[in-house]
Amino acid sequence: MQICWNCKKEVDDLARFCMHCGSALDDRLFEKSDVKKTESGKFISTWTLVFGILSIWPFIIVSSALGVMSYILSKKYKNNPYENRARLGFALSIGSLLFYIAGMIMIIVVVVTA
Ligand SMILES: [Zn+2]
Repeated sequence: MQICWNCKKEVDDLARFCMHCGSALDDRLFEKSDVKKTESGKFISTWTLVFGILSIWPFIIVSSALGVMSYILSKKYKNNPYENRARLGFALSIGSLLFYIAGMIMIIVVVVTA
């Protein structure tokens, strides 16, 4: 059962129009899918942040890559209220990856010049 957005009465799930007041139900369905989209945005944004945190230690390469990938995926969600979360995860992923590369370069330099 769905509830008519206009008269708040119960309407059949498959109905396109309310049987009580005749309102088109498409608007209400659109809102529903919008909520779902926002929840998906929250999901991917949270994972981006988790990967970002994990990429500091101990899964630098794998988690940085996953963090960057999930950030790209999170960009698909327009008006995602959790975008800042994804952005922070992305920053952590890139930051730790650069830190790791810098560390590797330093090790190589030390080994070569020793
Ligand atoms: Zn109605």
